[in-house]
Order: sequence, then structure tokens, then C-alpha cells
Amino acid sequence: ETRKFEESDLDYLQIVANHVAVAITGHRLYEELDQDHQRLKDNISRRERAENQLYFNTMHDLLTGLPNRRQFLKHLNHTLAVTRKRGQNVAVLFLDLNRFKLINESFGHNVGDEFLVALSRKLDSILRPGDILARVSGDEFAILIEDAKSPAEVEYLVADIRESLAQPALIEGHEVFTHVSMGIVMSAAEHGDAETALRDAETAMYRAKQEGKGRHAVFTPEMHSAVKSQLSLESDLHKAIQRRELLVYFQPIFDMSANSIAGFEALTRWNHPVRGSIPPSEFIPLAEESPLIHELGTYVLAESCRQLMEWRNRGVCSPDLFVTVNVSPRQLEGTGLATEITAILDNTGLPAGNLRLEITESVLMVQSESTVAMLSALRERGIGIWMDDFGTGYSSLQNLEHLPISVLKIDRTFVQRMERAYGTKLISGILNLARTLDLEVVVEGVESDRQFHPLLAMGCRFLQGHYLASPLPASLAGDFLSSPLAVPGTAGDI
Ligand code: C2E
Ligand code: CA
Ligand code: CA
Repeated sequence: ETRKFEESDLDYLQIVANHVAVAITGHRLYEELDQDHQRLKDNISRRERAENQLYFNTMHDLLTGLPNRRQFLKHLNHTLAVTRKRGQNVAVLFLDLNRFKLINESFGHNVGDEFLVALSRKLDSILRPGDILARVSGDEFAILIEDAKSPAEVEYLVADIRESLAQPALIEGHEVFTHVSMGIVMSAAEHGDAETALRDAETAMYRAKQEGKGRHAVFTPEMHSAVKSQLSLESDLHKAIQRRELLVYFQPIFDMSANSIAGFEALTRWNHPVRGSIPPSEFIPLAEESPLIHELGTYVLAESCRQLMEWRNRGVCSPDLFVTVNVSPRQLEGTGLATEITAILDNTGLPAGNLRLEITESVLMVQSESTVAMLSALRERGIGIWMDDFGTGYSSLQNLEHLPISVLKIDRTFVQRMERAYGTKLISGILNLARTLDLEVVVEGVESDRQFHPLLAMGCRFLQGHYLASPLPASLAGDFLSSPLAVPGTAGDI
């Protein structure tokens, strides 16, 4: 219906128009609000999702989707609490892939990743419901066995795991497989909390690993201190050389015929920042298990030659004074040692004739033609080769004949036995043998005058031991050289 508006209606219309406008704006506003609200809701759920994802991520391993270390520990703590009430036993397995790094390096990281995924599927398929498999670090897995009724049951599982991993996985055309070392905690509850149980399983794994690849070991308390301290030492040892924590001490070897110091044996000490001084008997065997022994050996050789050269330059020692350096059998593999010695002598300026090497009888077990040839070449250059710890190992006279040895160092256990029956006779036996073979003899480990005097009476010329002087830091050894006891003399040809 049309209606004629009059002038007076205009105001009214204006009001209506305003209302409509307000309504429309209001509606828009409302819509906007609504949209905002929706957006807010979206945001919130997105955030929730992200938070959930984040939570999942912090509790799971992204590659395999397995629980990670954190989640495993959480599970384990929970399971321990529940099973304790039910009287069930929880066992924990710690698995470490042997040489996984090698897979990554030779086939690439993709293959490595896929291998880990395939392996986790395999492992997961062996487990019973309730058991939990987790990836606790790069190439380490843990298994929680919820109701382990007996050690035998756990051993069965271990056998199953081994069997299933014995088959190689086919990944991108490569046949990939690895051994696993396993550590077992039979009764996690006895280890207190989850962290301790997992740590102890890991410790047992390290022990298994030491015994060879693809082994397993059940945790015993004795393992803990032994393996753990060894492990941290090993990683510390890597840094020790750079940080100059390895010190070379020098123990005088006396020439009794001249009443003087003939030379020094270089003995390594590790000045650990936390543990203090660590004896070589603790860290040399560790270093020998890894390529570290080469680095350590080079360092000791270089430092010994440098130090002797410093004394020579300062004029505190006779030109005959020698330094003898212990060389581990592993340093004799290949011909690297000869090249190294040449470089060190060149760098320090020390004449070859002032260096001696001490090898042990264990070298005789691994000697190859090339080792003998290298030692002979060194000997020809004037570097003395000494047989250390003589009488304790495997040396047969026949073997001795093949090696270019100039000196037998009688092991200190013979000196310790001197006061018992035959003790002295054994030493004179060795002295006779040496005379026959035209070898010089050094007696080490002389601790008392009751040993010292009989040794002198038997005609032992070269003596070393606490009774005469202990291993000394370089500065003290330098002082010792200028003390009255140490009249510089000639060392003779030893
Ligand atoms: P070793 O070659 O038989 O060295 C002699 C050991 O006897 C040294 O022990 C020395 O401190 C100790 N000693 C000295 N006088 C006496 C004594 O009167 N009585 C007794 N009971 N012992 C005495 P240290 O310094 O603890 O070295 C132990 C072993 O570690 C050495 O035995 C040697 O085989 C090895 N070693 C030390 N430094 C090095 C190194 O730089 N390289 C290698 N490969 N082995 C090293
Ligand atoms: Ca020695
Ligand atoms: Ca010795």
C-alpha cells in the first residue's frame, strides 16, 4: 500500500531509517561478533590440537611413533605402582643397536631411519599386550615387561628378540641388519624408581656390549660402579688430551756403576678435574680399547722428547741421558709409529739415540713380520727397544731372538719375591740369560734397601724404583738432574 508521506512524516522516516541502520549495523556487529567467536573457538581448538600434538611430541618419538624416554619412565613408574599392589613383577630391557652409526654412514640417513621404523615394528610385534616398547634415544630402545613371572620368561623374550632381528631388513634395496646388545633388570621394583631401573638396565647393556656384540647381561649391583665410572672416564679421556690434563712424569733410572742418572722412564698421569690424579693402570687399558691409544701415545712420545730436549738445551743433563717411552701393542699395528717417531724427532731435534721404547711381551703374541721389520728399522736408527715386564708373559727364548731387543727390564714382581725362597735365584737366572744373549738388564720396582743391596751385590747395574726415586713431574725431574746424587755420567749403551 502506497502512502503519501507528508512533510511531517519525514522525521518519523528518519527515525525508522536510523533504526534500520542501527539494526543492520547491529546485525553486522552481531555477525562479526559471531565470526570472531567462531574464530576464537577455532583458535582455541587449534591451540588445543597444537598443545596435544606438542604433548604427544614431547612424549613420543616422531620417527617411529613409539613412546620416548619420558613417556617410558612415566609408564614404568605407573606400572610399578600398580603391579606392586598386585604382586606382579616388572622387568626392564635396554637394547642398543651395535654399529648403527655405520648403517647411517654407509647407506645414508633415510635408510637408517627406515631401518629404525622396521625394527620397532618387529620388536613391537613380539611383545604381549601390556608390555611397552619405547625408543629412548637414537639407537636405543627400552622394553617394559609388565608381568614377568620368572627370569626364564625374560630370557625367552630375549631369545625371541634375537631371532627376529637375525633376519636382515630389506630397505631401499639394501639388506640391513644389526646386532643388539641387551641389558636386563629382572625386577624393576627392587631398583626403586623408574629412572634407576632404566639406568641399571642400561648399565647391564654396557657390560653386555663389552663382552662382545649381540650379547645380553642381567644387571648386578657390582656392575654399577665399575661400568659407570669407566664410561664417564672414557668420554672424559677424549677431552683430556686437548685440555692438557695428561701429564708426563719422569722416573729416574740409575746407572749404579757411575752413580748417576742414565735416563728417565716417561710415565703418564691423568690429572682429572674432578677425580684428581688417575693412575695409568685405569686409563691406559681404556685408551687401548679405542683409537685413543694412538693419540695418547703420540702425545706422550712428543712430550717426552720435547722435555728431554729442553733439559739438553738448558745444559742440565749429559748428552747421553735418554728417555724411555712405553708403547702399547696397538701402537705397533701398521707402520704409523715409525713415521710418527721420525716426525717427532725432526720437530724436537732430539737425536734418535736418546730415545728408547718399552714394549711388553704381549707384543710377541701379535708380532707380525711387519712389526718386527719396523722395530728393527727403529733399532738401526739408534732407538733402543726394551722388553718391559720381562718374565711375566709369553716370551720364549725363540721369540726373543727374533725381536731387535737391547734390554730386558725385569718385572717388579721378581724384586718383590726376592726375600722368599728362589726369589733371588730367579733374578740371577735372568741375569745369566741376558748375559748369554748379550742383553743389558734394568731392574725396576726397587723399594727397599733389603732389595737394593743384594741387587747391587748380584751385579745389577741399572736400577729403578721408589727406593731411589719415584716418578716425578717434569720440573722436579729437572731439579733432580742437578742434585748431587745425580752426577751426570755416561749411560753406556742401553
Ligand atoms: P710399567 O711400564 O711397568 O711402569 C712402571 C710402574 O711401576 C709405574 O707405574 C711406576 O710408577 C711404578 N713404580 C715405580 N717404582 C716403583 C716401586 O718401587 N715399586 C712399585 N711397586 N712400583 C713402582 P705407573 O706409573 O702406575 O704405570 C703403570 C703402567 O702403566 C706402566 O707399567 C705402563 O705399562 C703403563 N703406562 C704408563 N704410562 C704409559 C704410557 O704413556 N703409555 C703406555 N702405553 N703405557 C703406559
Ligand atoms: Ca715400562
Ligand atoms: Ca714394567
